[in-house]
Amino acid sequence: MVGPEAERSARVAVSGGAARAGSRGLGICRRVTGVRWDADPVNRPDVLLQIPTELQPFLSPRQRGLPVNVPADGDSTLGHIVESAGPPLPEVGRLLVDGREVQPGYRPVGGEVVDVFPIARPQAVPEFETRTPRFLLDVHLGALARRMRLVGIDTAYHNDCDDPTLVVQANAERRVLLTQDRGLLRRKNLWFGAYVYGIRADVQLDDLLRRFALTLAPWTRCTACNGELRAATREEVEPEVKPGTLDAVESFARCRECARVYWHGAHGGHLDEIVEAAQRVVASVR
Ligand SMILES: [Zn+2]
Repeated sequence: MVGPEAERSARVAVSGGAARAGSRGLGICRRVTGVRWDADPVNRPDVLLQIPTELQPFLSPRQRGLPVNVPADGDSTLGHIVESAGPPLPEVGRLLVDGREVQPGYRPVGGEVVDVFPIARPQAVPEFETRTPRFLLDVHLGALARRMRLVGIDTAYHNDCDDPTLVVQANAERRVLLTQDRGLLRRKNLWFGAYVYGIRADVQLDDLLRRFALTLAPWTRCTACNGELRAATREEVEPEVKPGTLDAVESFARCRECARVYWHGAHGGHLDEIVEAAQRVVASVR
């Protein structure tokens, strides 16, 4: 709708407030009697979000598979609008508005078509471009924490930590906060967070290894406390290890933090399988 009819609709909207002028879908912005056309929320067209497959799980079931229409109020940033639809910003990569790349701080006026991309993989972590990043896990991710430590990734974890405390520790120690809590990822003061995909710990670890292209150092960390292990002599650990184990194992290690004794038996079984699976994933993404 352009020309006199649009002009008339604008006057109705400006003077009548709640009167619907039937101009939804109109993509113009013009001044009418000193009032911005796009200042009228009634007549503002929706923003249309095109959400990729990777981010569809963050949508409500009825929204999946379809473009998402979101009202534009002229004040909200695109980042806020996308998060309101479901996907937390740490999982969102590029944003294209009508084909043009914008930042999350862009403020839609209504009528835009937005292509939302998932985060690019492998994902670089600021300050950790040349070394493996450190992590902090949310309270429900204990099984994943033990696996990450087993393959040598620096992983802080407590099973009794509230959200503000997690954010403070992640920021202070520059640890990537891993969680399945979208609300936690939306905290504005969190320096860097990532969503953990998958229900089982093996799936979760697989996804993280691919996402951050991590370097592994298996059998170098305490799975109980994340402390680094040091070599320990047979004589040193003798009082703490059963005689049968002492005879069967060649090398021992001790946690520098909690003093637990570790050894790698000839048949590591399940733990060996976890390490070998992780090594295969890392090799496949390099
Ligand atoms: Zn320890």
